[in-house]
Amino acid sequence: ATMPPLLAAIATAGRHGVLVKDARVVEALSEVDTVALDKTGTLTRGAPRLVAVRPLGGAGEAEVLRLAASVERDSEHPIARCVVAEADRRGVDLLPTRGFRAEPGRGVRATTDRGEIVVGDPVLLAGSESTEDGSSASGLVAAAQAEGHTAVVVLRDGRPLGVLAVADEPRDDAPAAVIALAEISGHPPVLLTGDAPAPASAVAASVGIADVRAGLLPADKTAAVRGWQADGRRVLLVGDGINDAPALAAADVGVAMGGGSALSLTAADAVVVGDRLGAVASLVLLARRARRVAG
Ligand code: ADP
Ligand code: MG
Repeated sequence: ATMPPLLAAIATAGRHGVLVKDARVVEALSEVDTVALDKTGTLTRGAPRLVAVRPLGGAGEAEVLRLAASVERDSEHPIARCVVAEADRRGVDLLPTRGFRAEPGRGVRATTDRGEIVVGDPVLLAGSESTEDGSSASGLVAAAQAEGHTAVVVLRDGRPLGVLAVADEPRDDAPAAVIALAEISGHPPVLLTGDAPAPASAVAASVGIADVRAGLLPADKTAAVRGWQADGRRVLLVGDGINDAPALAAADVGVAMGGGSALSLTAADAVVVGDRLGAVASLVLLARRARRVAG
């Protein structure tokens, strides 16, 4: 049987910008002692900007952008949206593709009449460093990451064609939300991300997170959650992407950012409707109070 104070908490949470799926979620929320946050789209606004297109091996900037955007058109990842938006802004037309495939936490691929194109994480370069003119993809990746940008590689038929630098600003209220979540849960929040260590650490430092786990695949995020649970911890995970869906489902409480993918919304127990990460901290506090009142 559900208790009126829990239902009242759900109504109050709604006014604070969080939709809670049912009263059992309030009980689980009140017991949370560990908070894990995804980076892209959760700590950051999820409105990344493409700040540079660096061609390799003799390709032109427009061609690299055309091929990358043609494949990204079918992806709902925030990076994909910014690549397509930049192609649109520069008036670059896209090519038809076939055989689109997305690998969550890694990238996307499809075939065009100019070859098989892969767009995604720099780990996808493994074993394919050589370009036609001998220029180095990993050098461009390191340069972009040193500036705190997310580096995205573009390959054609297994050869590096260019590197895209993507900037994603932390949400304005992220530093305050991190402090509040640390106080409420009793442990400093942890950053779980599929992005590389350098951009992950840059974002973590700017929002006040010390514990950073980078380069994680969706299954690694789930393993992190289960690891804490095996130690008796109650885990709240906040995420937004397809890559976060399994970990959101595994967590004691999964909270999805409202701008996120449909799959993350389905896997979550609660959804932040507005843009405020701070709503998650308010939600945990509300749940604690409701439990005390409910006894
Ligand atoms: P996060 O955990 O920070 O939300 P993701 O797991 O969604 O990040 O992505 C991890 C990395 O995989 C990204 O930093 C990017 O390099 C790459 N990636 C995933 N999907 C795409 C895509 N559609 N286009 C380009 N890169 C992608
Ligand atoms: Mg994300």
